Amino acid sequence: MSQQPQIDIELRNVVKEFTGRSGEFQTRAVDHVSLTIERGEFFSLLGPSGCGKTTTLRMIAGFEAASSGEILLRGKAVQDVPPFHRPVNTVFQDYALFPHMTALQNVMFGLEMENNIPRPEIRRRAEEALEMVRMTPSQFHRKPRQFSGGQQQRIALARALVKRPAVLLLDEPLGALDLKLRKEMQYELITMQNDLGITFIYVTHDQEEALTMSDRIAVMNLGKVLQVGSPEEIYETPNSRFVADFIGETNFLMGTVESHEGICATVRLDESTPIRASYRSEEALTNGQQVTVAIRPEKINIFAAEGSVKHDDGTSDEATAYREKLLRDPDIVMVEGRVEYANYIGTDTRYTIGFGNGQKLVMREQNFGLRNDTYYEVGSRVFIFWDYETARVLTH
Ligand code: ATP
Repeated sequence: MSQQPQIDIELRNVVKEFTGRSGEFQTRAVDHVSLTIERGEFFSLLGPSGCGKTTTLRMIAGFEAASSGEILLRGKAVQDVPPFHRPVNTVFQDYALFPHMTALQNVMFGLEMENNIPRPEIRRRAEEALEMVRMTPSQFHRKPRQFSGGQQQRIALARALVKRPAVLLLDEPLGALDLKLRKEMQYELITMQNDLGITFIYVTHDQEEALTMSDRIAVMNLGKVLQVGSPEEIYETPNSRFVADFIGETNFLMGTVESHEGICATVRLDESTPIRASYRSEEALTNGQQVTVAIRPEKINIFAAEGSVKHDDGTSDEATAYREKLLRDPDIVMVEGRVEYANYIGTDTRYTIGFGNGQKLVMREQNFGLRNDTYYEVGSRVFIFWDYETARVLTH
């Protein structure tokens, strides 16, 4: 029998409206959000500035009250439970350390607020938490200003972990760090979360950070959750133009549905260019409907329309024969085009290909061999192709 996942946090139709001094409506920061977060998950709230991530986190922490809807922590409704009695702890972007206290005193402070813990026990647990975030005993007695940004963030983490919360809420905790340190801390956070088994809810506007770290991601915009899924689901099968655009780089082609069956739709981009793309079966497409087709640059392949095509395994094909061979595969979509721009960016070359009646696609070709072996001249005739399943029909 498969085990039911245990639910740590549930948001049911949560709304948060902010009002002005005299009670007038100002903004709806969170708009009917429903989420279920499982025990031990690394769950990220991802979205642009102002989309309601922090407000959602603050409602879970208890710093803000929901205007309507319900928040449950481990099955219990918490609207009347004050922040310090909730089994959650928050790590803020600005660390919020007390400047006059040492690292150890900062970490001990949280436990001192709790009744009935003997002082030696407080000290032991605080030292343990600092060791957990890789601080050495010689650093315990330094004040925050004597630490780097990354070290201060570790102390803030230790202060949150010392209370052994069921859920740790992290609000852009790495936002103030430089890129290299941020990458190191990302790795450390994932390792720590795996070791401790604590549920992490992580707020970020950095899509790469969310993809790297999360078990699941909720993509938010204008107070709403648009899609919840694993990094792969969000990246490979975005459910809307916003999600496809926000995560990674995407080409959007506008067209009209000509026919559709199963998960394959034929979309006419212009008089001369029908292409096939996949769509979610729950989406009720109709013929004649205006849609967007989203294709990631790295899913598109290229070869020169004339001459021979060199393959990675050292073999080669004459271009026409190669084209015919590919077209025997019913999953392949191919169009003929012309290279409009080529940008060499080291690992890849980025090509803009013009095709059809004024259509354009950006694609990336990884530079496996020497540049001259794989380079397509601006103005040259090429074929580009992709598997229809990697192109998605989006209706909104
Ligand atoms: P960021 O990444 O910039 O922190 P965010 O996604 O976390 O953004 P929130 O801070 O949750 O977004 O804000 C959501 C919306 O609610 C914004 O329009 C913001 O201006 C508004 N807002 C947040 N707090 C308040 C407040 N106390 N009073 C009025 N409006 C607020």
